[in-house]
Amino acid sequence: MPGGVSVLQRLGLAEAAGGAPFYGVRYHFGDQTAEGRFPEADGQTVSGRGQRRKVLDHVLFKAAGETPGVTAHCGVRVDKPLVESGKVVGLLVEGEPRRARLTVAADGVHSRIRRFLGLDVPARRRRLGARVHFSLPLGRKQPPWVDVFVSRGHEFYVTPLPENEVLVAVLADGEALEETIECAFGRWWRDQPVLASRLEGAEQVTSLLCSSPLACSARTGVAPGVVLLGDAAGFLDPITGGGMSQALMTAELLTSYLRKGLPHADHWLWDFERDRRALLRDYILLTQVVLWLADHPSLAERLLSLLRVSPTLLSHLIGVSSGTRSLFGSQVRYLRGNL
Ligand SMILES: Cc1cc2nc3c(=O)[nH]c(=O)nc-3n(C[C@H](O)[C@H](O)[C@H](O)COP(=O)(O)OP(=O)(O)OC[C@H]3O[C@@H](n4cnc5c(N)ncnc54)[C@H](O)[C@@H]3O)c2cc1C
Repeated sequence: MPGGVSVLQRLGLAEAAGGAPFYGVRYHFGDQTAEGRFPEADGQTVSGRGQRRKVLDHVLFKAAGETPGVTAHCGVRVDKPLVESGKVVGLLVEGEPRRARLTVAADGVHSRIRRFLGLDVPARRRRLGARVHFSLPLGRKQPPWVDVFVSRGHEFYVTPLPENEVLVAVLADGEALEETIECAFGRWWRDQPVLASRLEGAEQVTSLLCSSPLACSARTGVAPGVVLLGDAAGFLDPITGGGMSQALMTAELLTSYLRKGLPHADHWLWDFERDRRALLRDYILLTQVVLWLADHPSLAERLLSLLRVSPTLLSHLIGVSSGTRSLFGSQVRYLRGNL
């Protein structure tokens, strides 16, 4: 989403990360479509990027490894945090203690570090997510949009990728599933005429990967000596598509605290946590509303029909989900002047 793309631009990594540009989100429901274009910033067109995680992660990891003073270790397992007198003082990594003045736990939605520190709050919803990648026949043009196909009980997200690949992801209520996700996934996308015709002749190039539960929550995102970041700090659902942007934006916020060096006392951690929550507040509120609508499909369809004739409002809401707009304002305060 654009909020994440702008962080990559500020890091000088947007070009290396590459990706297929897209200019907003289109919702398909029944035989109708509602288009939400990303709102402009300072008169400039704003775009998101569709890219495989393996490419983005490689670019980020390489840049981190090439940063003076950084030693990057790949393919190592973190066992647990090291805690002394109630403070995290590092990590146990494959049996080896690694001491640090600050530990950043960016270990995802099922964060081991969060669990070991007793900060886990069990997820209430049992939604599941699954994805595959397709390679489209040569010469088939991809629309520069993320297309969302809304059905009762599940939604498909179709994102253009470089080299004529396309990501097809589904989010669904895991408890209502009466067959394997493999069967449901194949049946569901073939039931969507627009999606089925877009994938006609396409070759599936990755196997189905599934994740559940999608939601996680942390009692707090910081504790003495440690910061939880990205999904590890709490995640509601990918339904509004901003997970990567929120992870990148909050990582950038953390670096703004550390730019002058790591403070000796830990008080700043709670200032950071307050700012992190403020940065994500509107996005989380919007995601809660959209999740509620996913449980009330008739209302969701009526609302989408209304938004279809209010493109400015839909565009504004897409801006909130993409991390560039506040719900009740224009640009996100923290990003002002940065986009
Ligand atoms: C089906 C689905 C579709 C999605 N689609 C989108 C989308 O289109 N756009 C978007 O922005 N977001 C999307 N998301 C959400 C997005 O994937 C997450 O928000 C994002 O990955 C969060 O990044 P992260 O770095 O916090 O965590 P992760 O990407 O989960 O990274 C955590 C890393 O920590 C590593 N790790 C974990 N435990 C250990 C350990 N013990 N030792 C060592 N390493 C460890 C993992 O291997 C992993 O590399 C989607 C999610 C799902 C489930």
